[in-house]
Amino acid sequence: MKISSNTKFLLVKHDCGNEQYVYNTAKREVKCTLCKKTIAKPTGGFVKVFGKIIKTV
Ligand SMILES: [Zn+2]
Repeated sequence: MKISSNTKFLLVKHDCGNEQYVYNTAKREVKCTLCKKTIAKPTGGFVKVFGKIIKTV
């Protein structure tokens, strides 16, 4: 089993003010834990985030 070195966590600040970690290669839609709206959406490659990326880990 190989772990992709391209996979990173993104700390995203959502429009509602919540800060949440999401995988930048998530295969499923990620909901904001605070407002329950979509915070990240898979695109086949890197996710599209709805908010501001504060940092990558
Ligand atoms: Zn939110």
